[in-house]
Amino acid sequence: MAEPFINGGYVEFSGLDRMAIVDPANGEEVGDVPASGAAEVDQAVRSAHDAFPAWRDTPASKRGEILGLAAHAVLGDVEELAPLLTSEQGKPLREARLEIRRFVHTLEHYVGLSKNIRGGYVPDLDVDTYGLIVRRPVGIVGAIVPWNFPTTLLANKLGPALVTGNVVVAKPSDTTPLTTLRIAEIMHEAGLPAGVFNVVTGTGPEAGEALAGHPLVRKVAFTGSTPVGKKLMALAAGDLKHVTLELGGSDPIIVCDDANLDRAASAASVGRFFNAGQACLAVKRVFVFDSVADEFVEKLVAKVRKLRVGPGTAEGVMLGPLHSSGGRDLVEEQVQSAVDSGAKVLHGAKRPEGNGLSERGNFYEPTLLLEPSRDSRVATEEVFGPALPVWRVGGMEEALELANGSIFGLGSSIWTADLNRASEAAERIEAGYTWINSPQVVYDELPFGGWKQSGHGKEHGIEALDFYTETKAVVVRRAT
Ligand code: NAD
Repeated sequence: MAEPFINGGYVEFSGLDRMAIVDPANGEEVGDVPASGAAEVDQAVRSAHDAFPAWRDTPASKRGEILGLAAHAVLGDVEELAPLLTSEQGKPLREARLEIRRFVHTLEHYVGLSKNIRGGYVPDLDVDTYGLIVRRPVGIVGAIVPWNFPTTLLANKLGPALVTGNVVVAKPSDTTPLTTLRIAEIMHEAGLPAGVFNVVTGTGPEAGEALAGHPLVRKVAFTGSTPVGKKLMALAAGDLKHVTLELGGSDPIIVCDDANLDRAASAASVGRFFNAGQACLAVKRVFVFDSVADEFVEKLVAKVRKLRVGPGTAEGVMLGPLHSSGGRDLVEEQVQSAVDSGAKVLHGAKRPEGNGLSERGNFYEPTLLLEPSRDSRVATEEVFGPALPVWRVGGMEEALELANGSIFGLGSSIWTADLNRASEAAERIEAGYTWINSPQVVYDELPFGGWKQSGHGKEHGIEALDFYTETKAVVVRRAT
């Protein structure tokens, strides 16, 4: 049993349906939470509203100090939080620990920035007149987060929101609320004032829409699928709320004829199969130059064969179960349509057999597909699971045309020894992030956010602060 965390404590609401939280590795129930509706969301938003003036008026460096202590407390509880995260999300324990540490790391990035929140000064606007550019918090932020990285994707919103003086009501995914609730409690016990960070539970259409549509919420910070992002943007338009959308992706990786093929194969394998392929900026489409394609594919297959599938709690497991049976069904359909379109299966394309895993959880083997048709579903849709299509290309022009021929524009990678070629391609590729000869690591220091239907606005970097502040101009005339 877990309850929404509102105004510094767990609140029990009577008469609400309970939603079971299920371990994706074995289908066992690991907890339950209430399906909140508009009334419960309203209570959370009002608690944030009451907390806002004092938090807004707390000096920024003090806000940073409080957030730093709260983040440190979460780090101290990583051994409690990681198994909880694995039990509700499915990811291997090693990745769950990394995720909690990453949550803390991101908050600490914003703690550092809390002493650098700047405005501007414009002299001599007129005789005896100068201007100030002042930043103020937007107010109440509704943070809606998916299940694939429940805590880090929250930190991307919580950090910039809190240091700039906003207050937050978060709605985690209906299937992964438990770690977030416990984190809210830990942060409050470590000194974050009541009402500054609240967590409501519930479904997207009920709790999520109630939050995004609440008249007191001034900003909707959303990470999730593109269709839901579009819906939320329309909903937020009613009150002209600020909106940040981090949405789906179908990241291309371009492997040129002069690339370090070992490293490129490793980046493609880790980039695709980390978190069982359920990452927005996973590598989702490979374009490899014809002359090195055979060698590259051989190296990739060798890496993928080594990936051990199993429950997240088992030693040495690299791929946990998919988060939901529906998610696995969708990947299976997409893989089948690729095979029907002519793809050769290089590895996987099935559930694990003979070890009892598939009978208990949503497991699926890491899958490599060579040359599906270029208009097949794995080329045009986001594949949110462990299946990677590989296409041969004649050169950079063809690779860029295919890479850009997608509704998405989140991340992208280029592997080549020729940095001139790489930087020209990086300018032409339509994506919010390009890695050159690097695995797909998101750095807190750099702004992150998709182009096209992958999103709107930025998280990370110092730039994220712009999306959590209103800027106002103040004119000062000295003479009276
Ligand atoms: P989702 O859009 O179904 O759900 C995300 C969140 O929105 C959940 O909390 C859900 O309850 C809520 N929600 C659903 N419908 C809603 C509605 N009508 N109104 C308000 N809230 C609603 O996405 P998901 O399946 O949980 O996550 C996977 C998707 O997230 C993928 O498309 C992935 O690419 C994307 N994603 C993007 C990023 C990024 O930074 N760009 C990062 C991670 C995941």
